[in-house]
Amino acid sequence: MKRSRLSARERLSRNAAELQRLAIGLSESGGRLEDIFWESLLVSHTRTLIQDGAEEDLNAALDRLYESSPAACDELVDVVEAEVESCILEMDGKQYDIQLFAAPILVWSRYVIPSGSIGSASLVPIKTQLGAHVFSADVRLALADYLFSPDQLPHSYCDTWKLLQSLVKAAIKRSDFRLDGAQLPETFPFLSDVRYLLGVAMVPHGTPVFRWNESDGNRDTARSAWEKQGGANFAAFLTGCAYQLLLPNAYHFACRSADLESRAYAVKASIAFLQASQGLMPEELRAVIAPCYDQRLEEYRIGFAPRDQDHQVFHGVVWTLLGAEDEHSEVVPQIEAILCDCGVQDIVALEHRMPLEFCDDCGAPMFPTAEGDLVHAEMPEQNDAISQTLH
Ligand SMILES: [Zn+2]
Repeated sequence: MKRSRLSARERLSRNAAELQRLAIGLSESGGRLEDIFWESLLVSHTRTLIQDGAEEDLNAALDRLYESSPAACDELVDVVEAEVESCILEMDGKQYDIQLFAAPILVWSRYVIPSGSIGSASLVPIKTQLGAHVFSADVRLALADYLFSPDQLPHSYCDTWKLLQSLVKAAIKRSDFRLDGAQLPETFPFLSDVRYLLGVAMVPHGTPVFRWNESDGNRDTARSAWEKQGGANFAAFLTGCAYQLLLPNAYHFACRSADLESRAYAVKASIAFLQASQGLMPEELRAVIAPCYDQRLEEYRIGFAPRDQDHQVFHGVVWTLLGAEDEHSEVVPQIEAILCDCGVQDIVALEHRMPLEFCDDCGAPMFPTAEGDLVHAEMPEQNDAISQTLH
């Protein structure tokens, strides 16, 4: 997790300072009993702030702890994420556990990847497959009738909590949540991207949520069954696209998994794209990997061109560092292994630091050539292929 730096001189609000105190208490606790004491105070304070929409207090406490006490920061992240993505509901004298979940889909296309409304009739078979393969036997599901692009996911903890509330209301009525897409930001077109189906799973309190929580279930079976049986239900929305379903999971976890998996997927998509649009086979390509720095290493950029082109980049991919990854992480071997798997034999890994450079005109990232320059990715003009850049 990367957080912005908050000046040590900036004063924390009383609420943020209290969050910080409780999170530090929890992180320094010596036993389970003390954990429970701190955690219940931290949960109740966090819950009040979320219900009051006090996003700034949450972020201020997280930013401060990120610098001063990473262990306490992790504790607070856990509590905040749990509070906005799950709850216990009391209905007709019974208690239910509710989990906000995401079902991510990795997608690539030479055309614009769709996002937007899904008709409620189409949600029925999707729910059937989710119920059969991903969630436990006693689950009740409510979905948002929308395929979200990453830009359209809730932007804050408080917004995530509001979405949870809307979905809970739908679940109580045994219906789905009709989302007004007009309020959501537009989707920027990328060659390869992620789409998300969001929903809540509601189970009797204390019973399994997921299929793999049941004694005869397991995660791998759930994953392959969902991939196989769930996939066809998205064909109507994702026309002209290749796509791969990822295992649905708790909202924040699923989004982080999708971020991780989408990097390798984007590399594979680029190679397939160059083959489809330019007729370039993987063994005819050269891939150049460069580390790009701002204050620190931010990302790797991979430039693709035919092997005899030292000064050009036909297409590029950005490999963003995630979580705790930094310049000491074994990222380059990981990228090289994916390229090799795809049949690319000519791989150049540049070692010198490159700037995080973007095109002044269109804002697209610049990509490395084999000569070690950063250039604009350009497809040859005689081809009708669309020139798209992965970010
Ligand atoms: Zn440009």
